[in-house]
This record gives sequence, C-alpha cells and structure tokens, in this order.
Amino acid sequence: MIYLDNSATTHIDEEILDAMLPWMRDFFGNPSSAYALGRKARVAIEEAREEIAASINAHPAELLFTSGGTEANNAILKSCCIESGLTNALAISAIEHHAVSHPSEWLAVQGFTVKILGVDSLGIVEQHWYEALPSENTLISIMQANNETGVIQQIDTIRAMIPEQSFIHTDAVQSFGKIPIDVQQLGIDFLSLSAHKIHGPKGIGAMYIRKGIDFKSHQHGGGQERNRRAGTESPALIVGFQIAVRNAIREMESRHQHMRSLQLLMRSLLKEHIPQARINTPENPASSLPSIMNVSFQHINDGEAILQLMDMAGIAVSNGSACVSGSQQPSHVLKALGLSDQEAKAAVRFSFSKDNTEEEITEAVLELKHIIASLS
Ligand code: PLP
Repeated sequence: MIYLDNSATTHIDEEILDAMLPWMRDFFGNPSSAYALGRKARVAIEEAREEIAASINAHPAELLFTSGGTEANNAILKSCCIESGLTNALAISAIEHHAVSHPSEWLAVQGFTVKILGVDSLGIVEQHWYEALPSENTLISIMQANNETGVIQQIDTIRAMIPEQSFIHTDAVQSFGKIPIDVQQLGIDFLSLSAHKIHGPKGIGAMYIRKGIDFKSHQHGGGQERNRRAGTESPALIVGFQIAVRNAIREMESRHQHMRSLQLLMRSLLKEHIPQARINTPENPASSLPSIMNVSFQHINDGEAILQLMDMAGIAVSNGSACVSGSQQPSHVLKALGLSDQEAKAAVRFSFSKDNTEEEITEAVLELKHIIASLS
C-alpha cells in the first residue's frame, strides 16, 4: 500500500511503541498514587511535560495533557466561554477543523456570539476581519495550518492586529513538529497539540494555557492536571507523545526538506500529467506546510469515486478531513476558498510523511491521471 494520508494519522514509530509498552505491562501504577509504582509514573509524566513544553518554549505548568486535539480545542473554547467566563464572544476562521467549528456552533446555540472570519482564495484570513473585531474580550481561534490544504496563517502578525484584550487560540495539530512553534514569539494564550500526526500514539495531545490565565476545568472529576483536566493520565501515551515530539523536533529540518521535495515533485507531476486539476495548496512555501497537496477537479461529478478507485489501486488518500470522508458533503474549507460545491466535493488530499518516497509520489499521480481520465 502507498500511504499518503499522513494528515489523517501517521504510523507509530517502532521505537515509540517499544518505549510505551513497559508503562502498560510493568509500570502500570496510577500516577496519582503515593506509593513507589505510582510515583514512578508521575515522574515519567512530569519529565514528558517538561520536554514537550520546552519544544514550544512554554513553562511545564502551562502544558496540560488531553486525549488529543479535539479535546484540547473543545476544552479551551468551552471553558473560555463557560467555566472560566473569560469571554462571551468567539471569532474563528471559516476554514477551522470541525474540532473548532462544531464547538463554536454549539456555543452559538447557547447564546455566545460567534463571528466567522472569511479567507481569500489561498485560504488566508482577510485582514479586514481583524480590523473589525470588537475591542471587548473576544477569543480568536485561528489554526496555524489547515488540515485540508496546508495553508499557514501568520499567527504572530495576527496577534499584532487584534485588540490587546482579546485572547488568541491556535490549533497547531497539523503544524506541530513540521514548522517551529514558539508560544512566546507567537504571543498566544492557548494552543492545541496532538501526538498521532507526528508518529506518536492516538488518544493523547495537550493544551497550552498561558501562565496567569484563570482557566477552570471543562471536564470535572479528579484533581489531575492542576485541577484543569480531570481524568487519570496515561503514562504510556504520554511517554509515546514525548518521544514523538523529541524525534520530530530533532529531525524537523530534514523531515521538512524531504516532504517539501515530495510536494514540489507532486506539483510538477500534476501540472504535467493532469493540467485540468486545480491545486488548492498555496505555492509559496512560507504559506503552506510541506506535507500536504490538495487538488480538485471541476468536471468530476463523483468525488468519492476518485478516493475509492485510488483505494482499489492500493493508494490511501482522502478528501481532507477524516470526519467528512464518506459523507459526500462538499468541503467547507474548499468552499471558503471560493470553489463550487461540485469542485469542493471532487478533491483529493495527498499528505506526506518522512517515510514517503519519490517513487510513491510518481505512482500516485500516474494512477490519479488514469482515474480522472476514466471518470471524465
Ligand atoms: N485539529 C486539526 C487541524 C486536525 O487536523 C485534527 C485531526 O485531524 C484535529 C484537530 C483533531 O485532533 P485529534 O485527532 O487528536 O483529536
């Protein structure tokens, strides 16, 4: 199989799996227990917290473990509005992942003001939206990089454009480990992370909450994570997350260059072999992740058929969001870029990892060419 759906999830590295197993098999203590078995787990968790926090230039006390990016996004948005009472207005971009847009829709139903900020044809939030934001406390949630097209928003520049009293959250699930993240330099208040996009385990992520913010737990139960996220921590998942982060940070430059060269190769092959394709990933490297190439087809009626035929040819790709796949709904991200419903349905997202090869890219484009010709 040629796996080109690394933005949906990545395979877990063998080294990471090996490091996790003892924490399930042997050192199974509850990290909140006071005896030696529990204390050992606690030490492992705190060491992981330190290392992951350092990777984004945060203090360990500012990093809380969650079950992944979805939980981090939900907890931040809902707690800011409800439990912590920091804001009663949200502003999100039109291309946020459903893990931000759906909690926002839910908050709107509860009576909170939610403003959707439009994007240009590349997917970059239009500046005039920031200028029009109200000066009272608003939580602005803008993803650092989009999961369907890979478009990057310049979060530090956005911070400078929005009212000082506003809080800013960025969903960095796709960008983490692929481009440098420094929470101080970005000037943000909240950030969401996930392990399984960087060869770590599924079911673990984290939220960064800037020191000084009176953040109250969205999830109630035990006093774990400094009373800010109830639930027994998983030492195995946290250790797996730690090693995935360590490797991603150490190899960031080489992985980035490798994926960028695959992306460039795919762009030129698409232009050569399927000239009717519309490429939705920005060409400027400063505006796109190296790991994603999104392409759509105006004249194809059945977008799902492309994915199914690619699957039958042994190539795993998706149309962008794993949650949307199979639902035949046009992508809200591509529609926000100005694509028609039909074009936004007939899209393919290729996403690369450190392990993909040039041969795989070439084979995937040639197979796509064949499929597009058969469906035209
Ligand atoms: N945010 C973005 C941008 C994503 O791409 C994803 C997953 O695809 C998520 C959030 C959800 O993260 P998780 O799968 O860890 O819940």
